[in-house]
Amino acid sequence: MDREHLTQHDIDNLLDQEQGQEQTAARSHLEGCADCRAAYDRGRHVVLLIEQLPYRAPSLGFSSVVMARVTIHEPFHVSIVDAIQRLAPRSPGLRVALGGAAAMIGLLVTSALVWMGTRATALQFVANITIERVASAALSGAEDATVAIVGEPTLAMLGLQGVRGIWFTLWLLCSCAFVAAFGLRLLANAARRRVP
Ligand SMILES: [Zn+2]
Repeated sequence: MDREHLTQHDIDNLLDQEQGQEQTAARSHLEGCADCRAAYDRGRHVVLLIEQLPYRAPSLGFSSVVMARVTIHEPFHVSIVDAIQRLAPRSPGLRVALGGAAAMIGLLVTSALVWMGTRATALQFVANITIERVASAALSGAEDATVAIVGEPTLAMLGLQGVRGIWFTLWLLCSCAFVAAFGLRLLANAARRRVP
C-alpha cells in the first residue's frame, strides 16, 4: 500500500466523480484496500438511492413561506439611507428645492463659523468669561446629578470624583440608551417575524 487510508473528503470527491491526480491516486488505493473500498461502496449506495428519488417541484407558496421566517438584518447605514429616501420628496422640483435649502443652511453655518474664527480674539474674551461661569455652574450641577444618578457610595467605591465621575455617568447613560435601543430593535424584529 503506497499511501494512508482515504479520508472522507477523498471518498466524497470520488463519489462526486471529480477528476484529477489526487483522484487517480485515490482510485488506485481503492483497488488495493478492502476497508476504503467498503467505505466507498457504502457512499456509492447512498448516492444511488438519492439519484433514484423522484423529483418534486416545490409548492407555489414555498419561497414566501420560507422568506416569512427569514429575518433580514439590514445594516445601520442602509436603514438610514432608506429612511432619507422615503422622506425625500418624489418630485424632482421639490428635491432640488430641498437640496438648495440644505446647501443654504450648510453655507450659513460655515460662514458663521468662519466669521467666528476671524473674530476669535474678541469673541474669546467674552466667551472665556461666559464659559467660566457657565462651566462652574454646570460642573457643580453635573456633579450633583452624577451623585443623584449613580449614588455617592458607588462613585467612592470606583474612586471617581468630579469630572471623571461625570464622564462615567455619561458613559453609563449612553450604554443604557444603547442597550435600550438594541432591545427595542429585537422586539421590533420579533414583532415583524410574527406578522404572516
Ligand atoms: Zn485504505
